[in-house]
Amino acid sequence: MKLRRKITLDIVVTSCLVNPLVFGDLDGKVSLAQGIPKYTSREKRELPAWATQKHKTEHFIYYFSEQDKPNLKSLEAQEKHYEFFKKTFQIEVPQQISYIKSPIKGSGGFVRRGYINSQWWFHPHEAVHFYLTSRNKFLREGIAEAFGTTFYQGFRDFGKKTEINSEKLISAIENFAKNEGESRYLANNFVRWLYFKEGSAKLVSLFRKSTSDLKGTEKVFLDVYKRNLQTLAEQWINEQEWLSKQQPPEGFFIYKPWTEEKK
Ligand SMILES: [Zn+2]
Repeated sequence: MKLRRKITLDIVVTSCLVNPLVFGDLDGKVSLAQGIPKYTSREKRELPAWATQKHKTEHFIYYFSEQDKPNLKSLEAQEKHYEFFKKTFQIEVPQQISYIKSPIKGSGGFVRRGYINSQWWFHPHEAVHFYLTSRNKFLREGIAEAFGTTFYQGFRDFGKKTEINSEKLISAIENFAKNEGESRYLANNFVRWLYFKEGSAKLVSLFRKSTSDLKGTEKVFLDVYKRNLQTLAEQWINEQEWLSKQQPPEGFFIYKPWTEEKK
């Protein structure tokens, strides 16, 4: 039996981050980091046995299998997206991010404390989870769909359009998993509206303070936007046409790794 190789991943300390840490994956089975993860300078991590290869770019260290080969176009897109996100939200993100590129097709991606794991060389949705997350699943999936995903074309409404109303919004914030497809649609749309209407600083503040439950998150909405969730929801519904006319922030781009990486 092959022993698992223990290595030390170098993770740069990010300063001025004081949020408590909760971590996990995207399904909410394990919770995610609040705000930006805070690392100790040298955290011991166990890499999968197949991850014997290493490739460094400006902000990422990729660990991958011998059978794999870095897709340079995707790595470039990842750097571009990193800069886009950092600039758009004016936040500190780690200088060097560990990224485990899985050789397992269909394994998708997830975020754990200190690293991103993905079947693709570029996975903007997971990267957004890593850069800015929230204890509230509606918020964290909303921003990943709007600013990181290419699954749903980000800034275009996607999938089957759903009728928008405040009950549906509040229900999705309270229980995202109840109707996940619809929750994602609403989350993408509502987070985009908050971004265009109120700007990135308030959105970051909302993310950092929000809680997993509806009650706690409602208080944070009031605190950050000085309006309750119901009032915000009504305004959001009335401004759908206005929202559809907004242009993505500078630097936003669409790149589909699952298409590109087959080439
Ligand atoms: Zn996600």
